[in-house]
Amino acid sequence: MNKEKQTIHEFDLNVIHEYFSNVERQGPGSPEITLKALSFIDSLTENSKVADIGCGTGGQTMVLAQNIPCEITGIDSCSGFINQFNQNARNKNLHDRIKGIIGNMENLPFQEEYLDLIWSEGAIYNIGFNRGLNEWRKFLKQGGYIAVTENTWFTEERPAEIQEFWQKAYSEIDTISNKVAQMQKAGYLPMATFVVPESCWTNYYSIMQKTHASFLKKYTGNKTAEEFVSYQRYEAELYYKYKAYYGYVFYIGKKI
Ligand code: SAH
Repeated sequence: MNKEKQTIHEFDLNVIHEYFSNVERQGPGSPEITLKALSFIDSLTENSKVADIGCGTGGQTMVLAQNIPCEITGIDSCSGFINQFNQNARNKNLHDRIKGIIGNMENLPFQEEYLDLIWSEGAIYNIGFNRGLNEWRKFLKQGGYIAVTENTWFTEERPAEIQEFWQKAYSEIDTISNKVAQMQKAGYLPMATFVVPESCWTNYYSIMQKTHASFLKKYTGNKTAEEFVSYQRYEAELYYKYKAYYGYVFYIGKKI
C-alpha cells in the first residue's frame, strides 16, 4: 500500500464498520474522561435533550445516560453501529431514555434550539471541527453546551513525518489556542479544555491490535482489510513515536 497517498477515508466502509463493531469504543476515550467533561456542564434535568453525534456503538452514551437524567439521542451514519447501540441500551436497561438513530451529522434531524447539550467524542472531524461547531450551534438552546473531542497539536512545531501524515489525514488539525479561538468565533463561550490522557490512545490501539489477527483471518486475501489493518498499524506506530506532539483534546463550550 502507498501509505503516503491513502487515508482511512478511502477504504471500503463496510469492512471498516465490521472491524470497529467488534470493539467497545471506535475512538480514543474512557468513562473517566466522559465524566470529567460532564463535570463542566450544569443544570441538566429530566427535561433536557441531549444528542450524541457520531455515537458509534455508544460506549460514551451509556456513561452519559448513567450519570444524567436526560433523554439522549445517539446519531450515527452506520446502521450496524446503531443496531449494536440499541442492543447495548436494552442490555443496560437504559432504552427508555436513550435511542440510537441512523443519521448524518451534516443534516441533523432536530428543530432549531431543541437541544441542551451536544456531545461528540472522536467524530466531529467527519464534518470538520469548524463546520460542526458552526452548523450544530443552531440546534442548541441559548445557554446550551457543546462537548467534543478533537485531534490537536500540542506544540507550535512538529517533525515533518507526523506533520505530513495528519495534514493529509485531517488538515484541520491545529493547536489548542487556535481551536479555542474558532469556538469563540462560532458563538460559544469556551468553558474548558483538557487533554485526553495517553492511556485512552494506548487502550484504543491495544484493543484494536488484539482484533487484527482474527479480522485478517476472516478476510484472508481481502485487499481492503489488509490495507486497513496496515494503515491502522502505521497510525498507531506514529502515535507511539510522536505522542508528545498531538492527541485528543476535549473542548467544552456554552452557546452565548
Ligand atoms: N463516539 C464514538 C465513535 C467515534 S468513531 C466513540 O468515541 O467511540 C466516529 C463515528 O462517526 C463512527 O461511528 C462513524 O460511523 C461516525 N460517522 C462518520 N461520518 C458520519 C456522518 N456523516 N454522520 C454521522 N456519523 C458519522
